[in-house]
Amino acid sequence: MTETTPGTAYLVGAGPGDRGLMTARALELIARADVVLYDKLIPEDALSGARPDAELVDVGKIGGGRQVPQETTTALLVEHALAGKDVVRLKGGDPFVFGRGGEEAQACAAHGIPFQVVPGVTAGIAASAYAGVPVTQRGVAAAVAFVTGHEDPAKPETQIDWPALAAFPGTLVFYMGVRQLPRIAEQLVAGGRSPEEPVAVVERGTYGDQRSIRGTLATIAEDAAVAEIKPPSITVIGPVAALHDELQWLDAARPLAGVTVAVTRARAQASALAASLRALGAGVVEAPSIRIEPLEALVPPLDPYDLVAFTSPNAVSRFFDLVHDARDLAGQTVAAIGPGTARALRAHGIVADVVPPRSIAESLVEALEGVAITKALIPRAEEARDILPAALEGRGATVDVLPLYRTVPEPLDRAARDAALGARYATFTSASSVRFFHAAAGTLDGPRLVSIGPATSAALRELGHEPDVEAEVHTPDGLVAALVADVAGARA
Ligand code: SAH
Repeated sequence: MTETTPGTAYLVGAGPGDRGLMTARALELIARADVVLYDKLIPEDALSGARPDAELVDVGKIGGGRQVPQETTTALLVEHALAGKDVVRLKGGDPFVFGRGGEEAQACAAHGIPFQVVPGVTAGIAASAYAGVPVTQRGVAAAVAFVTGHEDPAKPETQIDWPALAAFPGTLVFYMGVRQLPRIAEQLVAGGRSPEEPVAVVERGTYGDQRSIRGTLATIAEDAAVAEIKPPSITVIGPVAALHDELQWLDAARPLAGVTVAVTRARAQASALAASLRALGAGVVEAPSIRIEPLEALVPPLDPYDLVAFTSPNAVSRFFDLVHDARDLAGQTVAAIGPGTARALRAHGIVADVVPPRSIAESLVEALEGVAITKALIPRAEEARDILPAALEGRGATVDVLPLYRTVPEPLDRAARDAALGARYATFTSASSVRFFHAAAGTLDGPRLVSIGPATSAALRELGHEPDVEAEVHTPDGLVAALVADVAGARA
């Protein structure tokens, strides 16, 4: 019998909540892992890059009753690694800051399992920063202490030397339940800190729904109770906390804070749109209603064509699945319907000659007005509008349409459907996504309907719905801008 070589255990920090604060190394390891053991407090979507066949295990330690004991988690980690699996142990924030990563590393060492540690952005620093509080500041705070204790007030507090903490010459950052706030404030004042000492509490720091409050040691327990601050929260104590009032930057950067947006795009394309929405503070509901299915096709020799016109990034990517040499497009005018398609071409080394000002067929037809065309090739979706081929034929050109993919409906599970219909906005980036979503959800009632452009809006109208918002620039960025404007309008 041969011994299995153990896999590697990676103790990985997932950061404080904003997916953008995950490290490149964390994302890379998640994408490769055989097994991911993950905590409750990790960013939304942290695991979206995992292999489809990876085993994803929730060992979340938060949420009444459903606690996985640390020993079980450690045992799982050891067991999977000894079975030869590469295991990512994904933890909120940093694995070695109140994350019990040290103990898990010791267990690996004891079992001869090779392990690596990937630090993460810890909540104490990140939540503070997102609330406009620098934990150190020249002339104000030259030291910072991270402090934790038992979350359970029934348990005796043995770890914290309150007098020493009160005397600490710098910022104190508490990773503790809000229930502990009265005692924290009390003990520090008893130890000699001024009741006027500034305090900030940050709830769900860096998440889309982050909230923060500012008070003093004398007021903060009451302030937090009034604001109904809940875990997870950190408390920052010291003169730097007062900078919150001056340096709060998040609201300006997150015009979509507290707004939920459903994304109905194909899963493969949703992530960029979802990421820009999240970066603006939106809560994103992924409800893909459409999937791209490649078609078997034969690309004809390209020499006879003087124009090749691409009408979607999908067409570009499928085209280059089939054509392996960019030089095949050396002699032709290459047109792209919009910036996304042009970007996809650039990724294959082709700079589009023609990109119309508006990303719709009509605009492309206009942009091609001065170009002499006798024979055109249009790689595209099987089902598409015939505006472009018809217009080129009208000018006397021979047009070959080359269907390279089709869009098919993606089934929508009940939870995704309900979440999407319960969102404040639902976004549509194509006419087919409108039709498929409507067919799958049975209705379009509920969210404000955001359309990327005229063709998509027409599909909404066919179903009896006037779009609430139509992008002026018919790209995903344009759609996001229109949505932001609508939210701002509603708030004004
Ligand atoms: N390893 C983690 C900390 C785990 S202890 C890190 O480095 O961040 C869990 C505590 O961290 C919570 O009780 C809370 O006090 C704090 N915490 C974690 N994420 C937080 C967030 N997004 N906002 C505020 N506090 C957070």
